Amino acid sequence: MHAADEIDAPPALKAKLRKLGLSRSDDLVLHLPIRYEDETTLTKIADALSGAPLQFEVRVLDVSIQFRPRRQLVVRAADSTGDLVLRFLNFYASQTRQFEEARDRGKTLRVFGELRVGYFGPEIVHPRYRSVGENEALARALTPIYPTTAGVSQAALRRLIARALGSADLSECLDSAALPPRLPAYADALRLLHAPLPGADETALQTRSHPAWRRVKFDELLAQQLSLRRAYLARRQKGAPALASEGALAERLLASLPFTLTAAQARAVAEIRADLAQTFPMQRLLQGDVGSGKTIVAALAICQAVEAGTQAAFMAPTEILAAQNFLKLKAWFEPLGVQVVWLAGSQKKSEKEASRKQAAGDAQVVVGTHALIREEVDFSRLGLAIIDEQHRFGVAQRLELRKKGERAKGANARNAANDATPPHQLMMSATPIPRTLSMTYYADLDVSVLDELPPGRKPIVTKLVSDARRGEVVERVRAAVSDGRQAYWVCPLIEESEKLELQTALDTYAALSEEFDGLRVGLVHGRQKGGEKDAAMRAFSAGEIDVLVATTVIEVGVDVPNACLMIVEHAERFGLAQLHQLRGRVGRGARDSVCVLLYQSPLSTAARERLKVIFENSDGFVIAREDLRLRGPGEFIGNRQSGVPMLRYADLETDADLVESARMTAEKMLRESPDRVERHLKRWMGSREEMLRA
Ligand code: ADP
Ligand code: MG
Repeated sequence: MHAADEIDAPPALKAKLRKLGLSRSDDLVLHLPIRYEDETTLTKIADALSGAPLQFEVRVLDVSIQFRPRRQLVVRAADSTGDLVLRFLNFYASQTRQFEEARDRGKTLRVFGELRVGYFGPEIVHPRYRSVGENEALARALTPIYPTTAGVSQAALRRLIARALGSADLSECLDSAALPPRLPAYADALRLLHAPLPGADETALQTRSHPAWRRVKFDELLAQQLSLRRAYLARRQKGAPALASEGALAERLLASLPFTLTAAQARAVAEIRADLAQTFPMQRLLQGDVGSGKTIVAALAICQAVEAGTQAAFMAPTEILAAQNFLKLKAWFEPLGVQVVWLAGSQKKSEKEASRKQAAGDAQVVVGTHALIREEVDFSRLGLAIIDEQHRFGVAQRLELRKKGERAKGANARNAANDATPPHQLMMSATPIPRTLSMTYYADLDVSVLDELPPGRKPIVTKLVSDARRGEVVERVRAAVSDGRQAYWVCPLIEESEKLELQTALDTYAALSEEFDGLRVGLVHGRQKGGEKDAAMRAFSAGEIDVLVATTVIEVGVDVPNACLMIVEHAERFGLAQLHQLRGRVGRGARDSVCVLLYQSPLSTAARERLKVIFENSDGFVIAREDLRLRGPGEFIGNRQSGVPMLRYADLETDADLVESARMTAEKMLRESPDRVERHLKRWMGSREEMLRA
């Protein structure tokens, strides 16, 4: 860090400021108020309306400590028009002395706070106050109130920020042509936001729709776009093996399928095919709703990698999912003479060792969990890495994954003459996300979308059933089973504790085993050893289990066509995306499918809304949009967990138009003015940009 950028403050204060993300002058000037107080005018006590925060100038008449109902400091004060009470429920002895001194010396105080008319007349609880000299000037601008942390007072922050506004470089980084219309200059926007003059549009400041706010938000979005797009371009600079193929293997695979590709699948396949033929690494996301047929698209990409003489890795977040993918890929590839290797934590040591050897040798396709493949496999010539159900990972994890992949490759390449080359990457996600969100969240990726489901899917009937009628649901499951069908029974989600969740799963399993006396009931949960889990899933797939009691481990990807009944207990506890995913586990075969959402009354408003959305909609994109509306983008994409401070000010919903222009401006700047890109990123990201770099 440049010394001139550093904040000039004592070390203890600096440490606290760092907690607020403030280590440079640039950070201070971008630390913006959450609201303002108006100390630009004085109000006479007689004219005051209660409820609004106001400023008064008073003299102290009387200071007392009272004990009703609890110990409190009560100061009576007056101006020329009337008197009021200042009440302190928490106070220091020094405060009492201050007021007594003000009383004895007849000092003038300015007090600021919300006036209420109580039983004993007008009063202010915990006002801000300070003593002032005769005719001391009033504040010229509104007083900013900043987000802060223990030990950093508003006054200290204000002083530091005011000083930073004088010393930081506030010069314009952007061409006025690059800005959306009617936005002020950077310096003007910041000066206004830190100290709006009386008469400023306070509502617009509060709702952050003021042009000054929009300028800041635009700049923030621009920094994000620049950072992500630059990472994208940087990866394009790296070399990757062009995967050349005639497409013969893909054709043989297609010919062996009992179906033809949907138009959306064909389009995605063509996009991936073109990417893989390039000499830089593909970084593509395949987005498609549950059941849209992403696996075959991935398999066709694998064909190209294999035909070009490289290896493909297919990774899933859980072993259950990985196992399903493995079985599917094996069924497709082995008849074509392509070898598919399975690598799982639950394998015996010797088996695992054998799989690893194959991966390091001549295996063509390796399937397993991310963790395993990433940590334990040294591929001999990895050409394509496929990451299934990518949405399970936050941004930070995604970037970490990528970094590790490259590092691992680097280690492999140590002996080889060539430099480390990242493999082509295909990420798959079943969480459809709205366009503006996709533009920011996935700005570092190319995106293919499967926006249609394979034909012939039977719509799933969704039923909302009160827990009071659980008995009927049990009967319904019995009837379905005697009709040769299978059912999932999903246990309640316990957010607070995995242990409790496990206990609930075990309890549910025990209870249902009794209730379904005579039926074959199985159990899968996240804490099972891989082998047990696998065995249960396999038995369910093979039709040896009638009712599978499960935790949300079956939320993603699991595909058992004969299972056409899904019961979700305590559905009110699940999020929209989860419910959509769970429901997607049925409706995969030729028979009618039903999803029963059991709920416990009374429902909270939020839960009622969620259940209504899932009841009324089946389109994943619509559900995702509603989810975004109900929860806001932070929770939606899970970046709270990932800890990436992506956006502080911009709101992807209200500022959608700014996202679009930021994206366009970013592209143009990256092409035309790299020096400005640097300056802008430095201003906004400082040390944080490291987080966003892939
Ligand atoms: P997801 O996108 O959720 O991963 P899958 O790849 O598991 O979906 O596909 C769901 C089911 O649809 C699978 O049984 C798959 O074989 C089948 N499928 C995929 N594409 C088609 C198609 N074009 N026509 C008919 N069935 C298809
Ligand atoms: Mg899938």
